[in-house]
Amino acid sequence: MVQPYKHEPFTDFSIEENRQAYLKALETVEGYLGQDYDLVIGGEKITTEDKIVSYNPANTAQVIGRVSKANKDLAEKAMQAAVEAFKTWKKTKPEVRADVLFKAATMIRRRKDEFSALLTKEAGKSWREADVEVAEGIDFLEYYGRQMLSLKNGVPVNSRPDEYNRYDYIPLGVGIIISPWNFPFAIMAGTTVAAIVSGNTVLLKPASTTPIVAAKFVEVMEVAGLPKGVLNFVPGNGSEVGDYLVDHKDTRFVSFTGSREVGLRIFERSSKLNEGQIWMKRLIAEMGGKDTIVVDSEADLELAAQSIMASSFGFSGQKCSACSRAVIVEDVYDQVLNRVVELTNQLTIGDPVDNSNYTGPVIDNNAFNKIMEYIEIGKQEGKLMAGGEGDNSKGYFIKPTIIADLDPKARIMQEEIFGPVVGFTKAKDFDEAIEIANNTEYGLTGAVITTNRAHMEQAREDFHVGNLYFNRGCTGAIVGYQPFGGFNMSGTDSKAGGPDYLLLHMQAKTTSEMY
Ligand code: GLU
Repeated sequence: MVQPYKHEPFTDFSIEENRQAYLKALETVEGYLGQDYDLVIGGEKITTEDKIVSYNPANTAQVIGRVSKANKDLAEKAMQAAVEAFKTWKKTKPEVRADVLFKAATMIRRRKDEFSALLTKEAGKSWREADVEVAEGIDFLEYYGRQMLSLKNGVPVNSRPDEYNRYDYIPLGVGIIISPWNFPFAIMAGTTVAAIVSGNTVLLKPASTTPIVAAKFVEVMEVAGLPKGVLNFVPGNGSEVGDYLVDHKDTRFVSFTGSREVGLRIFERSSKLNEGQIWMKRLIAEMGGKDTIVVDSEADLELAAQSIMASSFGFSGQKCSACSRAVIVEDVYDQVLNRVVELTNQLTIGDPVDNSNYTGPVIDNNAFNKIMEYIEIGKQEGKLMAGGEGDNSKGYFIKPTIIADLDPKARIMQEEIFGPVVGFTKAKDFDEAIEIANNTEYGLTGAVITTNRAHMEQAREDFHVGNLYFNRGCTGAIVGYQPFGGFNMSGTDSKAGGPDYLLLHMQAKTTSEMY
């Protein structure tokens, strides 16, 4: 009997035993740094000359691993393998498909610290952020497995006396999974297994900065019993392999998480019909955010400051859910701002292998340069209150940065920076604060810190974001508890970890029999 779903608990690193276990896991990961990983196509391991090299963003001299790189021919071979495997996988019982996820969850749970330590090394995540992410990946496996079981008999519909009507969900076909580097385990695994457990076969193209943790996950899924060809592993260039697969006539759907720019490119390309294609492709897209925490004048101001600090600077602000705008009602503006500055000045930045560092590096040199440019823009547009400096001599470190007194229309308040930068704006009252909060083209997360019940209800109605939080920060959605996804330019509002997520990977079939 499958136990009811409950989210995976986080590890308490103040317990010495847990701390030692993590240090040991870091050693385990260090023991296999620099190895080569293959493509997996139809169960066959394929090595190519050309490699994608994954570096440690905290110490760029360190190679995490090298993964073989697909080209168009190999992508085509993987597509054929997925098309073939779909013929049997779609007929495999949902219970059997779910069992593979449950087993994989257990296998990862046993190696939880190792997966987290790999994220510390490959993505630059602090112990806590890495641990939370691996827990989320396990949650996706456990949650989607159970969702499939609840959908396996379809949904009841009415029948007249002499007929028997049924409404069942069947899989779509071959899906292309394009996953991001900021949650290189959880989102990679979650988007992959949602498609697979629904009966589809997939081609997984992980982010090129973080392919090693994806390769490790693919190994687990194979041992957990996934048949050959169901999950094909094809790291490669977006412009070559990504475009080729998105355009392919046999692609039935694309599940993408990443930037607005790439998401819109996929939106456009996947809407074009290609020779021999007999369906309209489906797109599941989770894109950017420009997320706001609103602070009311009637509020717990310490909670407000802590929430802004943690949501802005956890994982150096590299989450689509991160707070990048603080909109504060004017009578408490100075107080909240000063307290956030104080908290921010206490933060330590450095190599995340050292758990005393609050946050680590940003992902690569492009990110580093882009964020540093935004900081320069911020200094022009507003007042630099904290941070503002970066150092990319060894890894890509940027100090948590606060820019105050910004116009709501300033670039810092409108454009996604994806780094440790938060802008502050003053609102004359709560109405204006909500108006400012809504004035971006995104609509992913938001938070309101208030003790005023009427204001809470007003925000519940008017603050237009997919995930709205009260009296807490705006990051850290839990699978099955706070389904995650946003409006407008944040994507297709596909709620990851939600009760209808699997349906996006399926189509409904009505059957009606006369007795
Ligand atoms: N689900 C994550 C959160 O709630 C963010 C995911 C993302 O950045 O893509 O913080």
